[in-house]
Amino acid sequence: MKLATLKLNGGSAVCLIDADKQRYWPLSDLVPGFESNMHQLVQNFDQIRAQIQPRGEGQALDASLLLAPIERPFRNVFCVGRNYHAHAKELSSSVFKDNDKNVQSWPIVFTKVPESVVGPNDAVELPQGVSEQIDYEAELAIVIGKGGKNISRADAMSHVFGYTIVNDVTARDVQMRHQQWDMGKSFDTFCPMGPWVVTADELDGSNTRVRCWVNGELRQDGATPDLIFDLPSLIETCSRGITLYPGDIIATGTPAGVGMGLNPPQYLKTGDVVRIEIDGIGVLENTFK
Ligand code: MG
Repeated sequence: MKLATLKLNGGSAVCLIDADKQRYWPLSDLVPGFESNMHQLVQNFDQIRAQIQPRGEGQALDASLLLAPIERPFRNVFCVGRNYHAHAKELSSSVFKDNDKNVQSWPIVFTKVPESVVGPNDAVELPQGVSEQIDYEAELAIVIGKGGKNISRADAMSHVFGYTIVNDVTARDVQMRHQQWDMGKSFDTFCPMGPWVVTADELDGSNTRVRCWVNGELRQDGATPDLIFDLPSLIETCSRGITLYPGDIIATGTPAGVGMGLNPPQYLKTGDVVRIEIDGIGVLENTFK
């Protein structure tokens, strides 16, 4: 099933979505007593999932209602760098220039602050005077369902609630300047997320296509079978010594075709529209200003 957070009645509400028919049902209409956000839904999903079924015609889904499915994560969004072979190659002389053997055998993991998350209808703000090298990164993001620590590869997929799309917006000059990446990845509005969460029973995250267009021009076209570190490896790695909680997010890395990898590099400017589509999830589109 697809679950979105919609802007309704002056607030926000978790809703069941039928993307084909463009209809929605507020969960508060389907599950008696449900008045919570996506975090509470993820935590209580096993108890209430049987009740989450369309009832009646539902209401017309207008894309302008969509908010980030997890509007404000409890803590930083885990992100993985250098996780598609072709992307590792395209930035081998810049971002990944100094990577040693250690990086080849372990994933690069960094985080984005929760406050950087915005929704499908929000503009991404170009940070004037701070960076001139703003880039997009289309990514499949895992939403953790069952928490845990030191999760094994064998158990990892049972901890997945579902998937959404993240644009890991990056200031390349700032990313390169500070050795660690959090600064260049965490500017306000630099984590567009959406359009909804697709539950794990409905999508094989290990075999889906990730594409990204800038102003209608196809820039990225990858597929998750090309991941260097697969989804169980990422969950195993991120939970080593760190407890993962329901609602935590792991963005799994971006395919080749980022602006920095073009010759010459092409960075985003005001008015640009970045559209990301992941098969089985949908479309996340944001304007830069
Ligand atoms: Mg990334």
